[in-house]
Amino acid sequence: MLQAMRKGLSRQTHAQANVPMLPTYICSTPNGTEKGDYLVVELCQSHVRTLWVTFLGDGNRSPQVMYKTFNMPVDFMNCKGEMLFDFIAQCVNQFLDGLGNIQHDVPLGFVFPFSCRQTGLDKGELISWSKGFSCSDVEGKDVVQLLQSSINKRELHHVHVVALMNDTVGTMMTCGIGGEPCEVALIMDMGTNSCFMAEAQQVEMAEENSGRMWVNTEWGCFGDDGALSDILTPYDQRVDQESSNPGKKRFEKLVGSLYLGEIVRHALLALAAEKVLFVGSNITVLRSKDVLKTQQVLEIINNKEGKDKARKALVALGLQPSERDCCRVQQICRAVVSRAAALCAAGLAAILSHMRQSRELKQLAVNVGVDGELYRSHSRFGEILQSVTGLLVPECMVTLVPSVDGTGEGAAMVMALARRLEVQRREMDQLLAPLRLSRADLQRVQALMRREMELGLGQETNATASVRMLPTYVRATPDGTERGEFLALDLGGTNFRVLVVHVAQDGIRMSSEIYVIPTTIMQGTGEALFNHIVECIMDFQLKQDLMEKVLPLGFTFSFPCQQLGLDKAVLLTWTKGFSASDCVGQDVVQLLREAAQRKQHLGLKVVAVVNDTVGTMMSCGYDDPKCEIGLIVGTGTNACYMEEMRNVGTVEGDQGRMCINMEWGAFGDNGCLDDIFTTFDQLVDEKTINAGKQRFEKLISGMYLGEIVRHILLSLVEKQLLFCGKPCPKLQTRDIFQTKFLSTIEIDGLALRQVRDILQELQLEASFEDSMLVREVCQTVSLRAAQLCAAGLAAVVEKMRESRGLAQLAVTVGVDGTLYKMHPRFSQHLQQTLQDLAPNCSVTFMQSEDGSGKGAALVAAVAWRGAQP
Ligand code: ADP
Ligand code: MG
Repeated sequence: MLQAMRKGLSRQTHAQANVPMLPTYICSTPNGTEKGDYLVVELCQSHVRTLWVTFLGDGNRSPQVMYKTFNMPVDFMNCKGEMLFDFIAQCVNQFLDGLGNIQHDVPLGFVFPFSCRQTGLDKGELISWSKGFSCSDVEGKDVVQLLQSSINKRELHHVHVVALMNDTVGTMMTCGIGGEPCEVALIMDMGTNSCFMAEAQQVEMAEENSGRMWVNTEWGCFGDDGALSDILTPYDQRVDQESSNPGKKRFEKLVGSLYLGEIVRHALLALAAEKVLFVGSNITVLRSKDVLKTQQVLEIINNKEGKDKARKALVALGLQPSERDCCRVQQICRAVVSRAAALCAAGLAAILSHMRQSRELKQLAVNVGVDGELYRSHSRFGEILQSVTGLLVPECMVTLVPSVDGTGEGAAMVMALARRLEVQRREMDQLLAPLRLSRADLQRVQALMRREMELGLGQETNATASVRMLPTYVRATPDGTERGEFLALDLGGTNFRVLVVHVAQDGIRMSSEIYVIPTTIMQGTGEALFNHIVECIMDFQLKQDLMEKVLPLGFTFSFPCQQLGLDKAVLLTWTKGFSASDCVGQDVVQLLREAAQRKQHLGLKVVAVVNDTVGTMMSCGYDDPKCEIGLIVGTGTNACYMEEMRNVGTVEGDQGRMCINMEWGAFGDNGCLDDIFTTFDQLVDEKTINAGKQRFEKLISGMYLGEIVRHILLSLVEKQLLFCGKPCPKLQTRDIFQTKFLSTIEIDGLALRQVRDILQELQLEASFEDSMLVREVCQTVSLRAAQLCAAGLAAVVEKMRESRGLAQLAVTVGVDGTLYKMHPRFSQHLQQTLQDLAPNCSVTFMQSEDGSGKGAALVAAVAWRGAQP
């Protein structure tokens, strides 16, 4: 069965599959919030039933139902298709008339108990008639359209057929009503069928890649290819040969109540022929079809009066059963029904293992809705089903849930679900719309960045620009001839480090130590901070046996600085949790030298102060001479690039180039990006220690993305779109949703169960659908971040290209930062958007390995190179 199911699901093998696994386009289970009025029309064997179902959406899931049954003349089963549909429309019309004057639009669900090839919830072609129906001109046609045109003929223009479903599907919906949703439904009636909630991406016949979808297995035809031949008995073969569709529906003929009486009859006939039963009776009666009804079989296997029932039934057939005959007939009936239950269990086990495997679960617990007279009228049936399933798939816990009467209500539920999802989709789109940037939006951001860059570079306009465009006095990237041994400091990232870097012909070697800077020192006096730094350097030199050497030192200092020379950098402002006193407005190199003097450490020769973006560019530049841009997307975001000196109004001289530290995190601080900011961004900004500052950074970097997501989720809860609208106090905690969660949640092909697990870690009880919505929020936020970053970079590369008078620019960007490196999509989105926004630039991205340390040494080396004769 499992094999046959897989065959049905796969696009390649679907056409030959006996178990067709039909997609239903129903993608949810009820959660109690569904509401509204729905009209249902159900085509049954000899009648048409119409229902008016009202869901109140109050969690009390019993709907209000009014219904009416219309008898259908027998000849309608074989008439012209149009007549059948006209009759159904007439029933709808009469029913609506009885309900009074309904003017508003009425959604109608059509329960049509035949195999259809559905291509949407409201589209489905009849594959073939069965159950005695054979109306002309219907097979191969969309039955929704046929019904709608019959309805239109009666001028019921406010009635819209919005959903088509099989009776199985309708049933399984009601199985869920009243408790936890069911994810599997079994029908064991005259025929047999099953449905289950599959992972949508595995339902290859439906073009739906995320989420889940109910699949109608139509498993009755399992075995039509001979797969069951070794379990078929001679009795089954005879039942099949005498049926109206020999060779077809082999599984159904072992399980469906339409056939159980017949199987028993053939067994009795065979035994009587061998004189094991009914010795002395005339057994001719047993040769006639259908003399033994399944209902009788079910009565016979009932323990107490079973034997009497057997006797009565046999006597009624004109047989003269002995006491032993009655016992044996009872045994045979039990064997046939037990086998049916066990085979159903085997089918169910196949479904469960498929579900468990595709959800990547060790254990699976599901509710299984069950319907059909076999299940209802024989208590052992459920017991066997349960115990055999337990035997076959012990790793699945099954709770059988008997269905309340229900195809009609179930059909209404399908429509209510569809409406709930539609409303949810609309509200989600509305909420996320401001975060979804169009190409035009991004082009505008690019143009604005370009303008701010020009302002920042201009002597007169520099003060008014939000992008400071700070000169770094780095005039060249490495050319590979740099040599020597250098000290490097890295302050301003997540760690403070001291390094020794050997730049040699055969490459760069480094060793380093990480030192902790206690918060008391970060936020104490500047003197204490720089004393601590010198102490760390001395400790490092001692450990590395470098005390006697005077090595040139490069200082990666990742805070905004006004540089007055390569080794002269005035701190403009602290960020990232630093607030040491008496430093802002001071030259940090001077502060370091003074501390060295205080500590009587005379062998310190600071030759360069570098921003981490510059370090990143330099370290990548050592391997790739085209690397003339540095980019950081970590805790914060920033970029630097090589600008033509003639464009740098803030530094004397027109020759050559200089690296400009853009400090682009502050882009928008002058209000130029206000229409991009959403209410979520405002909320995040308000709670930061630098409200109103670093606005661009707050849309992009690791310190903020999680917070943006958290605020959106809060809003979704408030709008009752998430967690069933239950309040979620945990989400009120600041920074609870870390940016690293975005990375995990967005991993491609991650099972939604894992998303749920992550949310569970945060004590967020997410349903499957909640997990999908959370993932969509994460994707929206990280996509916007990557696109904005790309818009900024596009401005940079286009400016470089124009300044150099090139039609095409080929350039490399050295990148560092955990968000860029760890997020599964960020870099891809960044590169795609950049290519779109700057089509004349071919941009390569290169991840820097330890850019801050290596870069500082290389700046020192380049400076050293320049200083040598
Ligand atoms: P810094 O920018 O301070 O030098 P990093 O480059 O390591 O340090 O960036 C740290 C930031 O990266 C943190 O703000 C954190 O939110 C984010 N981050 C950490 N892990 C991940 C991850 N797996 N995916 C995305 N972002 C992450
Ligand atoms: Mg860093």
